[in-house]
Amino acid sequence: MAEDFMNKEVTYDDRYDPKLAPRYSEIATFMRAPLRMDPAGLDIAMVGVPYDGGVTNRPGARHGPREIRNQSSLMRAIHHVTRINPSALCRIADVGDVRFSAVMDNAKVVQEIEAFFDRLVTAGVVPLTAGGDHSITYPIFRSIAKAGPIGMVHIDAHTDTWGEIQGSKFNHGSPFRLAVEDGLLDPNRTIQIGIRGAQNSPEGWEYSRDSGMRVVFIEEFDEIGVDAVIAEARRIVGDGPTYISFDVDGLDPVYAPGTGTPESGGISMREAQKLLRGLGGLNLIGGDVVEVSPPFDQTGNTALVGATLMYEILCLLAEARSNKSKPILQTAL
Ligand code: MN
Ligand code: MN
Repeated sequence: MAEDFMNKEVTYDDRYDPKLAPRYSEIATFMRAPLRMDPAGLDIAMVGVPYDGGVTNRPGARHGPREIRNQSSLMRAIHHVTRINPSALCRIADVGDVRFSAVMDNAKVVQEIEAFFDRLVTAGVVPLTAGGDHSITYPIFRSIAKAGPIGMVHIDAHTDTWGEIQGSKFNHGSPFRLAVEDGLLDPNRTIQIGIRGAQNSPEGWEYSRDSGMRVVFIEEFDEIGVDAVIAEARRIVGDGPTYISFDVDGLDPVYAPGTGTPESGGISMREAQKLLRGLGGLNLIGGDVVEVSPPFDQTGNTALVGATLMYEILCLLAEARSNKSKPILQTAL
């Protein structure tokens, strides 16, 4: 086999087969999945959204997708707890980054992210995204929630239900307020986990509470424990379509220092992994990992954490997708 690989004309996908080529080789893609420009025939598409024009403080999340791709080369196939092998269940590819024609123009950014995800949704593909700052989740919802409001499990230090900040409604503190106002997100099927940190106004906390979201502040998380939080998340989202949005600042900065608005005293990586694994079997339709900011990530660990969270969510999405009626592929791409 090795000799064949050296001598024959290898296909593009062969280069990404971990049994044929070392994982540190070739151009980095998410989880070393093949790069595909056309989503037709895929089950799950991994997408980069290199945009941080919505940050309110420290920038850099625009560099997140590239560093997460790089660190994700360390990921392997089979999950050690669930034994899920995503690419044995589903056709998975990296479909590249959202392309922006005018990255300084907020309105155009929203349109172009939405249009990119429309291509995936139309092709029946489940998206898994690396941000970018959290503002990108609103245009993603404009695409994937066109058929009706969705539920969400949201891990974050912040509720992201604030209003206009510094002259714009489109910022990383507002995506879920915009999504509720537009009828894209069902607040009664939304749980926000890990919320903490002082604010200059209680507006966002109050919006989440008054709109009907279940808000689990970090103190309650500590009090009831991760198993009870999983049970609460499952109760809130039920069996309707559900999205997982993971802001790395939900983690303690010990695990994820490379982020724009870190808040000390957050959840641990092990708690986060246990929490995600507790979401198996839900009707999951997409997910994202946002706010990895490589310029503030001196050791690269935040990007590794981001890649690891993406892998955990990929396993959940692959299981959910393979449970749907569409024919299941038995082999990797
Ligand atoms: Mn956020
Ligand atoms: Mn946050």
